[in-house]
Amino acid sequence: MHSEEFENELTLLTHQQNGNEDEFHEAYEAAVESVKADLGAYHGLRIDGSHVDAADRFEVTSPGDFDLEIGEFAAGGESEVDAAVSAASAAFPEWEHRDIEARTEVFRTAADRMRDRKFELAATLSLENGKNRTEAMADVDEAIDFLRFYSRELERSDGYRFDTGQPTPHQHTTNLLRPYGVFAVVAPFNFPLAILAGMTTGAMVTGNTVVAKPASATPLIAHKFADVLADAGLPDGVFNLVTGGGRELGQPLTEHEDVAGVAFTGSREVGLGIERTFREQGKRGPVIAELGGKNPVIVSDEADLDDAVNGVAMGAFSFSGQKCSATSRVYVYEDVFDEFTERLVEATEQLGIGRGEHLDTVVNPVIDDGALDRYRRITERARTDGTVRTGGSVVDDDLPEGRYVEPTVVTDIPHEHDLAREEHFLPFVTVHPVSGLQEGIAKSNDSEYGLCAGIFSEDDEEVERWFDGVESGMCYANRTQSATTGALVQAQPFGGWKFSGTTGKFAGGYWYLQQFMREQSRTRVE
Ligand code: NAP
Ligand code: MG
Repeated sequence: MHSEEFENELTLLTHQQNGNEDEFHEAYEAAVESVKADLGAYHGLRIDGSHVDAADRFEVTSPGDFDLEIGEFAAGGESEVDAAVSAASAAFPEWEHRDIEARTEVFRTAADRMRDRKFELAATLSLENGKNRTEAMADVDEAIDFLRFYSRELERSDGYRFDTGQPTPHQHTTNLLRPYGVFAVVAPFNFPLAILAGMTTGAMVTGNTVVAKPASATPLIAHKFADVLADAGLPDGVFNLVTGGGRELGQPLTEHEDVAGVAFTGSREVGLGIERTFREQGKRGPVIAELGGKNPVIVSDEADLDDAVNGVAMGAFSFSGQKCSATSRVYVYEDVFDEFTERLVEATEQLGIGRGEHLDTVVNPVIDDGALDRYRRITERARTDGTVRTGGSVVDDDLPEGRYVEPTVVTDIPHEHDLAREEHFLPFVTVHPVSGLQEGIAKSNDSEYGLCAGIFSEDDEEVERWFDGVESGMCYANRTQSATTGALVQAQPFGGWKFSGTTGKFAGGYWYLQQFMREQSRTRVE
C-alpha cells in the first residue's frame, strides 16, 4: 500500500534549497535575543484553562549558562494532580462527542501557530535544554508534523468508524474506535516539544483529555505549547499542564484512579515501573511507553568510510548523545577497524563544543548534574577497563558556567561490559572489531534494547541480509547525515522493539492513534 503524500516541515533544508540560509540564522539569532529578554518569569500550573499556584516552586537555569535563569515554576503534588485529573474528566464527554473535524481543526490551527512562532520556539529549546539551532528547529518541525499528520490520519480513517453492514436481514452494524477518557502524558527532557506535542495530540485528537507532565528540566517549552493550544481554541480542561518532580507529581498522576491510560516517553526504569503499577492497580487501559536504546551500527569493509565516520560522529555526538536514538556502539570489520577508528577520532576532535545557540556547536551542554556525574563515572571506567581514544574529560575552560563535556570514543571494551550494554545518554561511543556481518548482527542483537540500528556497506546484498536479521524498530543503511538519529514523521515512524517500547506501534506512523482508543461494535435491530 502506498501512502498519499505527506510533506514534512523541513525548515532549515527549505531555507538551504531556496538559497536563503542566512535568513534562517538571522531569524534564529534575533529570536534568541527576544526569548532571553522574556526569561525568568514565574509560571503556575495550567488547570481547566486557568493558571494555578502550588505551595512550592522550582527554578530552572540554562544547562549551558547557569547565570541564565529560564524561569520559576510551580511544583505541584497530589492535590494539584487531583484538580487536573478532575478538570480533564469533566471535559471528556463533550470533547469525545465533538465532530472529528472540529477536533482536527484545533490541531491544524495549533500547527499553524507553531509555524508562525517556530524561531521563538527553537530559541527557547536551545536556551532551556541546550540544543543547537539545527536540532532545536528539527524538534519544532517534528512537533508541527505530529499535529498535522495525526489530524490527517484521523480524518483519512473517518475517525476509525466502519459501516459493517447487515450480517442478517434485520441487524444493522457499525464498528468504531472510541477514546478511553483521561490520559496521563509524561514527557522527557530531550525532545521536550516534539514528544510532548506528539503524545498529547495522539491522545486528544482521538477524543481523550490529557493531564501532561513535562520533564522538570524543560517546563518552559511545555508552557509555550499550552499557549499555542489555548490560542488555537482548545476547550478548557482538555489539556492540563502540571509541573513538578517525577516522584512527587509524575507518580501520583500515573497512579491516579481516574486516569484511564498513560503515554510515557523516557527511561526504561521509570516507564516499566509505571506500567507495572498500572497493571497492579487492575487497570486495563493502555500504557504506551517509548523507552531507551543502545543503538548499534555496523561498518563493513564494503563501507564508504567517509560516510561511516560522519554518520557515526553525528549519530553519537549531536545533541551530546542525549537521544534515545543516539549511536552508542559500533561494530567494525577487522580489516577496516584501525582506519575507521583513527578517522572517527579525528572527526570527533573537530566537533564544536559549546552553547546551543552558537553557530558551530554540535556537542552542546548536558542537561543536569546527574548527567555530568554519569559522564565522570563512565569515562573513569573506560580509562580503567578499556582505551579512551579521544575525549573523556569535563570541559571548564573558555566556556561559561555550564555542563560541557568532550565527545568520547572508546575501544578495547569487551562486548559484555556495562559500558557497551547500558544506555548512558551522553556523548560516548564504544567501537568493537567484528569478523563480518554475522558477528556484527549477532552482537547488535545481543541487547535488551531494539530501537535504532545502522549499517554502512555499499554491498546491497549485505544490506538486505542486515535488514532481515537485525532486531530493531528503525533501521538505516548508509545514513551519512546520522547513522541512527533523525527520523521523520510518516516516512520513518519511530518506536522500539524489546525493552525500547511497550506496544510495537510507532509514533508518527499509521498505527499510532488506534492505541488511544478501544473498539465498540454497535448493532441496531430494525
Ligand atoms: P526519565 O528520567 O525517565 O524522565 C521522563 C519523565 O518521567 C520526566 O518527566 C520525569 O520527571 C518523569 N518521572 C520520573 N520519575 C517518575 C515516576 N516515578 N513516575 C512518573 N514519572 C516520573 O527520562 P529523561 O531523562 O527525561 O529522558 C531520557 C530517557 O528517555 C532515555 O532513557 C531515552 O532513551 C528515553 N527516550 C526515549 C524515546 C523513545 O521514543 N523511545 C525518546 C526520547 C527519550 P522529572 O523530570 O521531574 O524527573
Ligand atoms: Mg531523568
